[in-house]
Amino acid sequence: MEIVTSPDEMTRRAENARNRGERIALVPTMGYLHDGHLALMREGRRRSSLLVASIFVNPTQFGPGEDFARYPRDFERDCAMLQTVPVDVVFAPEPPAMYSPDSQSWVEVTEVTRGLCGSNRPGHFRGVTTVVAKLFNIVKPHFAVFGEKDFQQLRAIQRMVRDLNFGVEIVPVPIVREKDGLAMSSRNAYLSPDEREDALALSLALRAAREKHSAGPCCTEEIVRAATQVLSRVKGVAIEYVEVVDAETLAPKPRLDRPILVAIAARVGKTRLIDNAVLAA
Ligand code: AMP
Repeated sequence: MEIVTSPDEMTRRAENARNRGERIALVPTMGYLHDGHLALMREGRRRSSLLVASIFVNPTQFGPGEDFARYPRDFERDCAMLQTVPVDVVFAPEPPAMYSPDSQSWVEVTEVTRGLCGSNRPGHFRGVTTVVAKLFNIVKPHFAVFGEKDFQQLRAIQRMVRDLNFGVEIVPVPIVREKDGLAMSSRNAYLSPDEREDALALSLALRAAREKHSAGPCCTEEIVRAATQVLSRVKGVAIEYVEVVDAETLAPKPRLDRPILVAIAARVGKTRLIDNAVLAA
């Protein structure tokens, strides 16, 4: 497994690989890897002859007062995990190699990023789509793998690729959960043992939403209420939003004869967690 930190060097390798007829898959991450990330890597491995994992804690997707500086990092452990897949190239640039101080260009996806996390984290998705566009230009992948854990991010990137003709196939991977249902996340490392218990409320709330939806004809308000009730019972959980939207467009007030997305963001102590479920019509 090779470690590349220079964007130009990464591009040279990608171009050489393309010229040899290799199929390149890219899995973008911010590191501090867990089994959810590894599921993405295995999907990328299946589709490619050159598998590139990027590890980059992207400063432009963090707002002021968010956790950029204290985001968990452990590059050696990450590399040991990536070697088990195995990954061919780890692309791990430092922020100054990715952003020059006079950089003034952004990639912005509008409608799909307005609601849900977009309303609570201004500028977040602009940072995400900009860095992913840069990674696509640097790594030149045929495939890029993203988790449904960050469902709005997945939809934003699918839009960007379609609207701007990136020619990269976006491969979604379902959410990987701990045995008790908690969605795996690098940020789970912030949770104290008590908070870890409280955090279960998110997946339990989604289960309540699913049960309400499958119990027979109902409306989105009832689904939101069922999930909210479960979350409000837990003192340590502060709800940021519980929403039901169209799973394709993420538009509010979805028709229930189409797949819907139930999305939750909540703070457990100081830690902001998200989770979601897609419910088929
Ligand atoms: P992150 O390192 O948190 O930016 O995540 C990198 C990629 O891994 C994103 O595409 C995430 O959606 C995906 N991911 C993170 N956690 C999970 C999970 N529990 N299951 C599936 N994919 C995940």
